[in-house]
Amino acid sequence: MTTPTVKLNSGYDMPLVGFGLWKVNNDTCADQVYEAIKQGYRLFDGACDYGNETEAGQGVARAISEGIVKREELFIVSKLWNSFHDPERVEPIARKQLADWGVDYFDLYIVHFPIALKYVDPSVRYPPSWTSENGKLEFSNTPIQATWQAMEALVDAGLARSIGISNFSAQLVMDLLRYARVRPATLQIEHHPYLTQERLVEYAQKEGLVVTAYSSFGPLSFLELEVKNAVNSPPLFEHDLIKGIAEKHGRTPAQVLLRWATQRGIAVIPKSNNPTRLQQNLDVTGWNLEEGDIQKISELDRGLRFNDPLGYGLYVPIF
Ligand code: NAD
Repeated sequence: MTTPTVKLNSGYDMPLVGFGLWKVNNDTCADQVYEAIKQGYRLFDGACDYGNETEAGQGVARAISEGIVKREELFIVSKLWNSFHDPERVEPIARKQLADWGVDYFDLYIVHFPIALKYVDPSVRYPPSWTSENGKLEFSNTPIQATWQAMEALVDAGLARSIGISNFSAQLVMDLLRYARVRPATLQIEHHPYLTQERLVEYAQKEGLVVTAYSSFGPLSFLELEVKNAVNSPPLFEHDLIKGIAEKHGRTPAQVLLRWATQRGIAVIPKSNNPTRLQQNLDVTGWNLEEGDIQKISELDRGLRFNDPLGYGLYVPIF
């Protein structure tokens, strides 16, 4: 099974469903990527911060060497970590990440957070994480405009076909669009029925940015991290509304949550290492929910954000 694509403002096509690499263990990552490609996944959402780009690249290399897929059929996404925002750090780290993946361009390279942290040399600590060894957050003075210009230079150099942003508010997107020579192709945000961010989604889409949802299943991915409001939130898979809609369509709650996004043109990047779920998660485009059901799911919004630095004890009050 493959997935439909959406046209980006850069002219490239991006698969509407992909595979997210956060928390994919290093020892299983290559196999998981390889299996996902076999199952039909073409987009992989990676990041420096996930610490598994080398292994993800090994999975890609195996699939390519066995003739299962060609590089140009894949859509490889990576992200610029916070400690590489200083303009002179952007190209070197992008080149390192490309080397880790074993590819010579990213289909999409994203500014992970609108937060510039002090540079950490990869030979000292990689991935650098949020804090230094003594647990301190150390900021850099680089404004986003300078970082974005360095991101644009990656496009000029052919190292990234498209560039994007993540965890940006509407205000920051507005500001960035005033000076962007290369517009961001995508905006990746936390998005699930408990956090619908309707105004931000509408604004980004009006401006021609494709929105990608992360953590589509809401609290689920934050339970093991013991994020307090996730532990205290009712699981979406067991919500009566979601279960009822799933039963009506002969689908699983996971598929309903993903279709609720894709039907509104929002891309999704779930991950699983279970073959049945991998297939389920890919099969979230060729069928439709009723408009009334989409509306009812959207009404579950509670403004509940789980991926908030404050929730991890980091004083970065960006949301
Ligand atoms: P996820 O979508 O991967 O889902 C979390 C959990 O759901 C997983 O533990 C998985 O086992 C389970 N699951 C998956 N499919 C299922 C199914 N069909 N039925 C039942 N359970 C299922 O959530 P996530 O990891 O939070 O987000 C997805 C991706 O988004 C990440 O891997 C990463 O690539 C990206 N992401 C980006 C940011 C960012 O700041 N830009 C933040 C978080 C995540």
